[in-house]
Formats: sequence, C-alpha cells, structure tokens
Amino acid sequence: MKQSKVFIPTLREVPAEAEAISHQLLLKAGLIKQNAAGVYSYLPVATRVIHKISDIIRQEMERIDAVEVVMPVLQQSELWKESGRWDAYGMELMRLRDRNQREFALGPTHEEVVTSLVRDELRSYKQLPLTLFQIQTKFRDEKRPRFGLLRGREFIMKDAYSFHTDEDSLMETYQNMYNAYSTIFKRVGLNVRPVVADSGAIGGNHTHEFHALSAIGEDTIVYSDNSDYAANIEKAEVPYYETANTDEPLQPIEKVATPNVKTAQELADFLGQPLDHIVKTMVFKVDGEFILLLVRGHHEVNDVKIKDYFKTDDVTMATDDEIRNLLGASPGSLGPVTDRDVKVYADQFVQSLRNLAIGANEDGYHFINANVERDFQIDGYGDFRFILEGEPLADGSGPAKFAEGIEVGQVFVLGEKYSEAMKATVLNQQGREQNLTMGCYGIGVSRTLSAIIEQHHDENGIIWPKSVTPFDVHLITVNPKKDEQRECADQLYDTLLSKYDVLYDDRNERAGVKFNDADLIGIPVRVVVGKNAAEGIVEVKRRDTGDSEDVHVEDLVAHLEKLYEQI
Ligand code: ATP
Ligand code: MG
Repeated sequence: MKQSKVFIPTLREVPAEAEAISHQLLLKAGLIKQNAAGVYSYLPVATRVIHKISDIIRQEMERIDAVEVVMPVLQQSELWKESGRWDAYGMELMRLRDRNQREFALGPTHEEVVTSLVRDELRSYKQLPLTLFQIQTKFRDEKRPRFGLLRGREFIMKDAYSFHTDEDSLMETYQNMYNAYSTIFKRVGLNVRPVVADSGAIGGNHTHEFHALSAIGEDTIVYSDNSDYAANIEKAEVPYYETANTDEPLQPIEKVATPNVKTAQELADFLGQPLDHIVKTMVFKVDGEFILLLVRGHHEVNDVKIKDYFKTDDVTMATDDEIRNLLGASPGSLGPVTDRDVKVYADQFVQSLRNLAIGANEDGYHFINANVERDFQIDGYGDFRFILEGEPLADGSGPAKFAEGIEVGQVFVLGEKYSEAMKATVLNQQGREQNLTMGCYGIGVSRTLSAIIEQHHDENGIIWPKSVTPFDVHLITVNPKKDEQRECADQLYDTLLSKYDVLYDDRNERAGVKFNDADLIGIPVRVVVGKNAAEGIVEVKRRDTGDSEDVHVEDLVAHLEKLYEQI
C-alpha cells in the first residue's frame, strides 16, 4: 500500500492522559482514535494487526476442532433472566430497550446465547463434544475504562464454548484449549504465564488465566523460581506456618485511650508495638449477614478468599452506618469483644498471637493484651488474606515472587451452571435426558494488541513481531522528487509486492519525518531508496537491532528472505 493513500495520522505529541506506553504508541503511531471513554476506532494499521492476530487464533482453534460462528451482540433479557445474571451481572451490563420497550443487553460474553442455541438445536450425545467460537465486539460498561485498548468498554474478544456429556471429555477440551492458548500467545510474540485464577462473575470452579508480563498489568501474579507454581494473587493460598509469640504468658486485658488513632499503623506507633502484633477487625456482609473478620496489622484481607470460604458471591463490606449500628463504633476502633450476636472469623495467622491489641468498639479506645478464648471467641479460622512477597508457597516451593501481568486470556471449566439454569439437556447413551456440561474460553484480541506493544517497543516506537506486523516491509524514498529515486522505488514496490505486504512511503515529506514515522509504526524491515539509487544500491535496516546494510536491488529479494528468517 502507498502511504500517501493509507490513513495513518501519526502525532508529534501524545495526549497527556495516556499513561500506558501501548496507549501512547497506539495514538502516536496513528493506530487508534478515541470516540468516547473506552470506545475507539481502529485505523488501518491497527485493523491489519487485529486481522493477523485473529488469523492466528482461527488457525489454532480449527486445529482443536473448534468451529467459528457469529452470535448476536444484541441479546434479549429473557435469556439473562433464565441464567440469573440479568440481576447478578450489575452495572457492567450495557442495557437498552427496543421500540416496544423490550429489554436487551449488548453482549459482554455469550454463555446465555450459546447455551440457548445448543439447547434448541442439539439433541443427542452423538453430536458431542462440540466447541463453538467467535471473534466479535463485546460491551462492558467498565467502571474505569483506561490504558487505551487494555480496558475498553467496547472491545474485541475471541470467545469459545464447549459442550460435553462427561467430565473427561470436558477436561480434554480444556487441556486442548490451554495448549492452544499457549501456542497462540507464543505465535503473536507475547511472553505469557498461565496462572491459577478466580472464576469471578462467569462462574465455575476450575480456571486458568494467561498473563502477559508487563509493569502496566493490573493483576499481580505470584510465582516461584524453583517450581512451576503460578497463581493470580487473588487465588494464591497462604500455607500456614508458625510465626508469633505463642509462648508469651497471657497478660491481663486492659482498655487504653487511643485518641485520633484510626489505622493499624497509627495504633502500632502509639503503643510502641510492631505492626504484626496489632489485629484489625473488619465487618463484612455475607449472604446478608454481618460477620467480623480479624487479620493481623501487616496483612490485607482478600475478598475472593472470603467468597471461597463461605461459598458465595454475595460478599460486601459493611457501610460505616451499618458498622455503627452493629458495634456502636467507627472503623478504626472495632474489635471482636462484643455482646452482639455476630460471628467472628479470623485469618489463620491470628491464631498464634498472644496479648494482642484490638479495637474496643468505642471510638478512641483499644484493648491491649486481649486473648482468644479468654476475652472473645473465634467461630472459624481460614485463609482470608493476600500472600506477601517472600512467603512460602502452597506447593511447598518459594519464596513467593510477584510480577505484574495483563490478563490476555482465560479458560474456565463451567460445569452445569448454565445448562442447569437454562435446561440444556441431551439424550445420553442410555437414552436419558442429561444436563450438558460446559467449558468457556476467552481471549482479549484488542487487549492482546496492546499487550504486544507493551512488550515490543523502544523509545522511538513500536517493534512488531513479524507474525503480527501490519506490513512486512517499509519501503521509503528519501526524496521522491528525484526521478531516479522515485523510479527505483516504484519498481521495487512492484517486485516486492508479489512476495510481501509492503507499505510504500511515497509521500513528499522530509526524510526525517518519514524515518520518525517508520520508527513509530515499527515494521520489522525498512528498505530506503536514497542517493545511491542511481547505482541500484538501497539501504536495508532492521527495526529491532537498528543494523543496516547496503544491498544491490538485484540481490534485494534474496537478502530480505534471509533477513526475515533471522528476525
Ligand atoms: P478483567 O479481570 O481484566 O476485567 P475479565 O476476567 O472480566 O477481565 P473475561 O470475562 O475473562 O474478562 O474475558 C475474557 C478476556 O477478554 C479477558 O481475558 C481479557 O483479555 C478480555 N477483556 C475483558 N475485559 C476487557 C476489557 N474491558 N477491555 C479489553 N479486553 C477485555
Ligand atoms: Mg478473566
């Protein structure tokens, strides 16, 4: 393509609000244009890369017998009511009404639609296993759309759904998907780590996320250097080990005035005690009932673990008003010593503590030397907190290391969650009706585009991996007004086109502008037709290493072929 004809509106300055490098480069290199918060147009270069990524995904899906479909974006509310997610999905679901006031959603994911499709069309176990996938625009009214395409409100996803009559078949497809995802991410040039994860709003009980390692990532991954352990921090179990003052003699409990003390750190400073000796009390509402939850001062509560412990999704933090009604005090002075009928749970690392400092349920007061059993009861201990860097890991390895990751994909075992709610059954081998069992599998295609840029750039711009590059060769004339340069480049353009996708910078711009744009756009190989054109000599330059060589036009095709093998 001729650059004079393509729409690549590169920018000199990046809008200040673009924090992520990929967001800056997508704007600067003229790949996207924002329409509204989290809503973008994909300009020609981005569109080409999206196609490349999608093609790789299609190839790997077909290799594992997944078949492509296109399901509606516009989804009637009835389906979502059947699954129970019309209410449960919350504010992220984009809702609208048609002219007859019927309610619809713009699909954030397609479990309901695909389950209803298969329920209505599939009758016998003989048609199973079946895996359907699509590559399509999804809508989620994210609270904080940000980082360009990394968290959009309208974004491109590959979503796949598999149907089975038995667990073994489901696990086989799950494993095939897992392997296909590893291959896809490798092929598009991403350094990705699969991690054990939480299933969130999708449901189900066995799931892995694929994280592209990057400092801008919003998830923390916990891993070990001496095993293959890797988990999202939300899910990283903390194995119990003895830490504290277990043999200290019990001291008499004492109430002390602690004016203006609100946080655990302030209390530790005020009392001259280490932070890990302080116990924080938090109030949560679990399935509509209040509970108190104790964790040590240097630990943070992980609400995914609360949900796992109580086996419910209905966990929220109590409001200040609810807390005052329940305990008669404000956050900052709360504790487990109360005559109210409320259950008290504690993180397992509280159990070894003696003589601990806790809130007295009276603003401005705390107890010191409080002790479990003697002064208050614990109804249950559990793993309720985030792991810390350096701690031992659940598989016996460690120390725990942390890295930031961008979630580019996730695979889930769903089981019968949707088939049961939506009555999706088939006749099994014995001729009896049976619920289908399901898996679902997503890749953020537009997020993957951004993640690739996060991992492949330098201070001058993008450096595309050759598998997804929008063009293979960037042909540039230094001065197209000079006949010998223009003619030489025109001819090379024709020759190269038969073998490569070529972007031909035929614009009447200054050479500096063209080179800057070329660096920004990041095509792996650049062919520059300049002052030696008359002698048939052009310059060939690699974008990644910056190495360049003079090559005779007659040798160019062979040279490029060799070079492309090395990149
Ligand atoms: P996140 O935790 O980042 O919000 P999610 O776990 O809710 O994502 P899934 O339901 O697993 O997302 O969706 C499948 C894939 O779609 C994700 O792995 C991610 O790559 C992509 N994705 C999800 N939300 C967005 C978004 N707002 N913008 C871009 N891609 C997204
Ligand atoms: Mg996910």
